[in-house]
Amino acid sequence: MKKKKYDYGECVICNSQMKEKRVKQDFWIKGELIVIENVPAGVCPQCGEKVVKADIGIQIASIIKDSERISKAAKISVPAIKFAEKKAAA
Ligand SMILES: [Zn+2]
Repeated sequence: MKKKKYDYGECVICNSQMKEKRVKQDFWIKGELIVIENVPAGVCPQCGEKVVKADIGIQIASIIKDSERISKAAKISVPAIKFAEKKAAA
């Protein structure tokens, strides 16, 4: 029997039908940026809104609490830019 695809329903913002995709999710944990890749999520093709299923959310919650797993994970580098406010032109 073919596994039924999960229906993510419609986007809460623009009412488009959500499509399943594998996405990157980023989290700030105690000032540290953590990225979880390959997360199955419903993505809105119109506005980019993302939703995850409850069981995926639970798995993510346990991953981001697993400090040993986080410390062993591959590191990526990201651009970090200090924001400097420009003086308003007179
Ligand atoms: Zn949308």
